[in-house]
Amino acid sequence: MSSDLHYKLIVGLEIHVQLCTKSKMFCGCAVEFGQKPNSRVCPVCLGMPGVLPVMNKQAFEYAVLVGLALNCEIAQFTKWDRKSYYYPDLPKNYQISQYDLPLSANGYIEIPLESGKTKNISIIRAHLEEDAGKNLHTAGNFSQVDLNRTGTPLLEIVTEPDMNSAAEVRALAVELQRMVRFLGVSEADMQKGHMRFEPNINLIITRDGTEYRTPIVEIKNLNSFRALERSVDYEQARQLDEFLENGVVMGMGNKTTRGWDDEKEITVLQREKEEAHDYRYFPDPDLVPVKMTPQWLSEIQGRLCELPIKRQLRYVDQYKLSDYDAGVLTADRSTSDLFDEAVKAGAEPKRLCNIITQTGLKIANEKGCSAGDLGLKAQSVANLAGMIEGGTISAGSAGQIFEAMVETGKEPEVLAEELNLIQKSDAGELEAIVDKVLADNPKAVDDVTGGGKKSKKARGFLLGQVMQKSKGQANPKVVSEILVKKLG
Ligand code: ZN
Ligand code: MN
Repeated sequence: MSSDLHYKLIVGLEIHVQLCTKSKMFCGCAVEFGQKPNSRVCPVCLGMPGVLPVMNKQAFEYAVLVGLALNCEIAQFTKWDRKSYYYPDLPKNYQISQYDLPLSANGYIEIPLESGKTKNISIIRAHLEEDAGKNLHTAGNFSQVDLNRTGTPLLEIVTEPDMNSAAEVRALAVELQRMVRFLGVSEADMQKGHMRFEPNINLIITRDGTEYRTPIVEIKNLNSFRALERSVDYEQARQLDEFLENGVVMGMGNKTTRGWDDEKEITVLQREKEEAHDYRYFPDPDLVPVKMTPQWLSEIQGRLCELPIKRQLRYVDQYKLSDYDAGVLTADRSTSDLFDEAVKAGAEPKRLCNIITQTGLKIANEKGCSAGDLGLKAQSVANLAGMIEGGTISAGSAGQIFEAMVETGKEPEVLAEELNLIQKSDAGELEAIVDKVLADNPKAVDDVTGGGKKSKKARGFLLGQVMQKSKGQANPKVVSEILVKKLG
């Protein structure tokens, strides 16, 4: 007998974002990726006895800025706590973090859904802490430790379990990456470990009217969008199987942590999850609490920009761009700034969007930068769009001119002349060419005037002949009008 069964996936995320400050969280060591191991360390980040940490103000302001972008309440009073644990990559045996008084809490992030709608995911808290070093296990039959990363500022963001699919989890991760890059507070480079994700996953299963919850699993340290999405999907299937086979529900075991095996694409049991009391949190006696004054807060507030999701929605709403195009333009800040400024300079938004997303991004990809960083003036790009709009050049030659603009720094008007791309729109001159073509092709003229199936094809042929005779410089719109005038 089959039973009636549905289930709902429940996912919350814990995310660590490395902030792009020049120096570390509590000492003056440089934050630099890929340097000689243990060359960016000092007594403070090595945890030598008797040293005193000093808070990095820039890191704190970056963290507050993200808190504001996440619609959080910013604490007027916040302090630092020691989270004790023992691991070779943490020589102090404790991590400086924030426990009961995080710098921001109770916010939300708006994420785009595939439907074009958005969903708000609640943010429980976002707090600052320091990163640990790195254990390396590649040298042979022993391990090494590199402490260059020790003490790097990390923002930890914890969401409510508001996500109900792997796609939503991915969307949040991607949105957060875009947000911190827009704010300029993190490079958010996944390959360099600037963003790490830890989803908490379980299922609410309803079978024959009774509700069951599977035990919560936390997957540790995922550092790619793909691993994040795949692991959530995998865990969903695994928990359902486990419930169906053994009836395992919440309470029959503690919360566990699992790791993601990227090659086998499975999660692997690691250990039972620690509780907060295992870490023996206590206030760090070496650091003074931080008081946020209204003036300081409003100064930081002034650095907020329009968030990428808002821009994307505005482009769809105001300029009628597709959701896809709006997403492409707002994938990075400099490209969408270029777009905004060129629209302000008079460009027709859809035309401009085509130029930037087609030619602009192609060249940017080749150069390994973003379209906004090609060194073009918004006014020049707007002028290029205007030239197509006005029929001075064809839409097809925009790419060639854009490329030449990047290479030479010349204005589009100058390049259109130099490259011989100005379209002939002078009716008198074009009419002479049309007359010649009509005289040379009596059969096609008959087909056009004869109507029916052949008519459209013959008209296209004649237009093509005119374009050829003008060496591609005739404005096809004007030529079509002349053909209509002459042939009906
Ligand atoms: Zn240091
Ligand atoms: Mn943490």
